[in-house]
This record gives sequence, structure tokens and C-alpha cells, in this order.
Amino acid sequence: MKIVMLGAPGAGKGTQAVNIAKEFGIPHISTGDIFRANIKNQTELGMKAKSYMDKGALVPDDITIGMLLDRIVDNDCKNGFVLDGFPRTIPQAESLKAALSLQDARIDHAIDIEVPDEVITKRMGGRRSCPKCGGTYHIAFNPPKKEGICDNCGTELVQRADDKPETVLERLKTYHDQTQPLIDFYRNEGVLTEVDGTKKPDEVLADILGALR
Ligand code: ADP
Ligand code: AMP
Repeated sequence: MKIVMLGAPGAGKGTQAVNIAKEFGIPHISTGDIFRANIKNQTELGMKAKSYMDKGALVPDDITIGMLLDRIVDNDCKNGFVLDGFPRTIPQAESLKAALSLQDARIDHAIDIEVPDEVITKRMGGRRSCPKCGGTYHIAFNPPKKEGICDNCGTELVQRADDKPETVLERLKTYHDQTQPLIDFYRNEGVLTEVDGTKKPDEVLADILGALR
């Protein structure tokens, strides 16, 4: 089961990827989480990525593609994976396709979560994230059981630096310019499923699982 999540920043990719990964017993791989872990640990990769992330731009393909291709050959990926935030450009999608085809494999499903920009801008201010396990919450729409604390691992939740309004607008522009064309890419591959991301999180999950089964 090799799955990619598509959709604008804030569409709900991370929220749903966690559930899909649990359902199928496969890893949830978020390139954004990998970059944030590198920033926290002050690695060279993290320092390079930060300057782009702070502006709402994409980290260049030459950094991102190698990092992701290295991750998907890890042992836990042998039954598949859910990619969240990758691919974000056509060259990323082409590189992933080429790497998988060397193992006679391909992406089985691309799930596009559709949410209009107006809804996204309202959602982002309330997003809270777990810096340890990558869990995602919303103060109103998807609150943790205990305010400010991650349900999964008990860590204090944080607001992401790139969720401030001006960066969100820049990230949406980046999405429309560079990432949205992937919808047609995966439609042409015959693996695209589009779901309405404005429904409640459990309804969106039910629609996705219905399509995957
Ligand atoms: P992405 O990974 O696509 O950037 P997230 O999964 O982090 O998006 O979701 C963005 C924000 O919207 C989070 O605060 C999350 O809790 C909230 N959210 C996710 N899905 C829904 C939904 N269906 N309805 C309302 N809020 C949602
Ligand atoms: P995310 O957590 O998916 O919202 O990603 C946060 C930020 O990390 C993005 O705004 C980009 O700057 C960077 N990023 C994550 N994934 C990618 C990718 N596949 N290609 C380029 N940049 C990425």
C-alpha cells in the first residue's frame, strides 16, 4: 500500500495520514516533520531548509528528493507508506516514480483532500502540533483531550512558526503554482481519489478508507 496525500497546506493531510497509517500498519512519512526535526537538532540540512520554510517557499528539489528516497528504503517501508507533503513538485513526483519502478513498484493511491483557500486561512491560526510525534490538532475543530497536550505522547503542543497569516498566504500561492499540477499527474496515472476536505475529520477519513478499500 503506497499512498501519497495531496492537498493545500492545512487541507488535513497530516490529520488523515496518521489515521491511514494506523489502519494499514504502515509508516506515516511527513517531509515537513523531517525538516522540522532537523531544524530542532540544528543539522546542516535543517539550517538549509529553514530559510525556505520561513518564507513559505519549497525546499529545493535537490535537497528534498534524496532525503525522501533514502527514507522509503528503510525496513519499515516494505509493506508500503503514506507520504504526507511529498511530492510537492512534478520533478519530485517523477523521481519517486522512477525510484519505485526500479523495484517494480508504483504509487497505488493518491488522495487529494480538497479545501477552498478561505477555509484554509481560517483553519491555520488554530492549528497546534506536537513537536515530538507530529500529532496535529485544532483548538476548535479537533482539540486534544487535555488542552495544550498531545493525546498520543503527552508532549506540550506548539504553534508552527510558518502558520502565521502572511506565511500561510505565501504557502497557498506556492501550492497553487507548484503543487496543484500533481493532481493531473496522478489522475493521468489512474490512481487519483478526490475527497471533500471541508467535512468533519472522521467523515473525511471514512470517505478515504471507503476509496482505499
Ligand atoms: P496539512 O497536513 O494538510 O497541512 P493538517 O492535517 O495539519 O493539514 O490540518 C490543518 C489544521 O486543520 C489542523 O489544525 C487540523 O486539526 C485541522 N483540520 C484537519 N482536518 C480538518 C477538518 N476536516 N475539519 C476542520 N479542521 C480540520
Ligand atoms: P508541511 O509540514 O508539509 O506543511 O511542510 C512545511 C514546509 O516544509 C513547507 O512549506 C516547505 O517549505 C517544506 N517542505 C515540506 N515538504 C516539502 C517538499 N516535498 N518539497 C519542498 N519543500 C517541502
